[in-house]
Amino acid sequence: MARKKVKKAAPAKKEKKAVKKSGLVTAYLGLGSNVGDREEFVEQAVFLLEKNPSIQVTKRSTNYETEPEGGSEQPKFINAAVEIRTKLSPQKLLDFCQEIEAALGRERELEWGPRTMDLDILLYDDLIYSDDTLQVPHALMHERLFVLKPLKEIAPRLIHPVLEKTIEAIYDERKAEHGETYDDELPGFKEIKGASLDDFERW
Ligand code: ADP
Ligand code: MG
Repeated sequence: MARKKVKKAAPAKKEKKAVKKSGLVTAYLGLGSNVGDREEFVEQAVFLLEKNPSIQVTKRSTNYETEPEGGSEQPKFINAAVEIRTKLSPQKLLDFCQEIEAALGRERELEWGPRTMDLDILLYDDLIYSDDTLQVPHALMHERLFVLKPLKEIAPRLIHPVLEKTIEAIYDERKAEHGETYDDELPGFKEIKGASLDDFERW
């Protein structure tokens, strides 16, 4: 007998379910800093995440140095990704990420401008959700090598719930598109050069 296609649950319902299931949800966060002591800001952000009793940091990637996207003149970024387990709802987690950004002195004057800390929710369990302040999975994560590279390091087999592909597969696709502009062979920090202007679009 042919199987029926399972309809995806409405986002609001699914959000509740994700939290209720086990009490703890696995989520992935992307970190980026391109002002001041960038590695120290990454360190501080991880420290502040761990200090929250509702969050446990379970994996952490290497730091990667990356070129800024969007064509504007600004310093290179340090990017990293972490895996967490948390009791916080997606909205509460976003609030906390923004608290950390504020605590580390981020000023939101220039959109896409230099920042001491950018802390984004990349994935939250297999939740698919969107409202005015939050979109999960993060709307551009699958386009950005500077997000995919550290995420692949800690979660290569993780499935992107919208694209239904592993992080590794998505990374390999993007890397192939970037061709020689992407240098994977540098020891220590890796550099990502030349992004397309399409990445500049907001959701
Ligand atoms: P970006 O991270 O795209 O460089 P900002 O950090 O300034 O830009 O974020 C702008 C807004 O993006 C935030 O105020 C937040 O409400 C929204 N946003 C939507 N989805 C997410 C997400 N998954 N993680 C973090 N912020 C998000
Ligand atoms: Mg952000």
